[in-house]
Amino acid sequence: MGSALELNEHNFHEVTVDARRLLFHIPSSSLFEADANSSAVIAELRRGASPSEAELGQRLAGRLDGSQLNGVLCDLQSLDIVTRDNSGSVAVFPTVGALPLTTVVLNVNTGCNLSCTYCYKEDLAVPSAGEKMGLDTAVASIEMLLRQSPDQAAYNIVFFGGEPLSNIALIRQVVDFAEQRFKAAGKRVNFSLTTNATLLNEKTIDYLDSHRFGIAVSIDGPKAIHDRNRITIGGQGSYETVARKVGLLLSRYRSRPVGARVTLTRGVTDVKAIWHHLYNELGFAEVGFAPVTAGDLDDFNLGDEELVAVFAAMKELGRHYVEEALQHRSIGFSNLHQLLTDIHEGSKKALPCGAGYSMVAVDKDGGVNLCHRFTGSELPTFGTVQAGLDVPALEDFLNRRLDRTDTGCATCRIRNLCSGGCYHESYQRYNDPAHPVYHYCDLMRDWVDFGIEAYARISRDNPRFFADYISTRRVS
Ligand code: SF4
Ligand code: SF4
Repeated sequence: MGSALELNEHNFHEVTVDARRLLFHIPSSSLFEADANSSAVIAELRRGASPSEAELGQRLAGRLDGSQLNGVLCDLQSLDIVTRDNSGSVAVFPTVGALPLTTVVLNVNTGCNLSCTYCYKEDLAVPSAGEKMGLDTAVASIEMLLRQSPDQAAYNIVFFGGEPLSNIALIRQVVDFAEQRFKAAGKRVNFSLTTNATLLNEKTIDYLDSHRFGIAVSIDGPKAIHDRNRITIGGQGSYETVARKVGLLLSRYRSRPVGARVTLTRGVTDVKAIWHHLYNELGFAEVGFAPVTAGDLDDFNLGDEELVAVFAAMKELGRHYVEEALQHRSIGFSNLHQLLTDIHEGSKKALPCGAGYSMVAVDKDGGVNLCHRFTGSELPTFGTVQAGLDVPALEDFLNRRLDRTDTGCATCRIRNLCSGGCYHESYQRYNDPAHPVYHYCDLMRDWVDFGIEAYARISRDNPRFFADYISTRRVS
């Protein structure tokens, strides 16, 4: 009796675009055309009963001859889509090697001149009580980066807060130091920051422009939406000021595209209208959305139905993205753009993001945190920039996340794109950053399926889009 054939459902996902059948191969994040023969074999195996090759041949008689069937089975077996006698390769989870640290986030001031109602920052203070980082801590952070990971060609310094521009004096000192230090070491350095825009003026904008800062502005949409939560310490909406400053910024900023970062909280699901305002009316080059689902302040978390509505709205905007991509235009919808980039590059993410691996965040005292969201949190730090990174503790944390044994992620079809989700969401939801984020897996899977279909459609009808807009991240 021949060996029993079975489908390894968690290694592939079928997509139909118009009449074209495609297989998304999960271990390699690659898309394959599924011809009629392989589609017929998969459909037949899906009926179950673990047939032998001979039995399967009988079931498919008249459609495939013996050698065609054998060829299809060999191909599918090499992709681990079909197994014989349950002999599919056992998933081996990677372990973390040397940390390729390239990015340090500096929390230059815990103070902020806004008082956004949903802010997650545990160390947030009003400007008068804000605690600023000193130059010695910033310098020690840069030295730690070079010491820990000396062989990189380029490094990134990200300024965060509170509101980072409330400590522009330190930013200028750090830029002066870093430009000299990295040049002397024969390396490149990039700067970026996320700002609420309120403190921007011509002088600051021109300064940031001359040092090619990557800028993301926190703004939640049109006035009625933005002013619900993004308020001053005195309780006034900040939209008018922010929109005016954004106008000034976009009229003068030349060195890099400027992005908007939108926080979606309870009661806010109209993704397309927000994108329209920020992209078409204010003129941002990119708009990215961060749905809040696991914040400490339950009043601001999107409810289950709202989360469904948010993903439906993201798909609606995604369909517009695809229509425009087919006309060779990019509409700067960052969430889909990033997903298409991951698919295009065949990303196999073992970890959800670079936090704790290629990036760490430093708090005002020099404590090392996984990312900017953890500074000031109760999660213990991973060493200090003065005494050194606690590499064993970081590796232990990352290895716990890398090991998917006994987690839903082990067989999830989007495991190499989602990789268990954001550590900070896990920390807020489960008090354990290594725990996968399980509360909207179905929506995430549906969103990734949508991305695969979008990718397949664009690659069929306008493949040049990827060369011009994805590889180079060019934004119209
Ligand atoms: S968190 Fe959920 S969606 Fe993400 S990989 Fe794990 S099981 Fe899949
Ligand atoms: S842990 Fe979450 S918030 Fe931090 S960098 Fe990763 S995805 Fe972003």
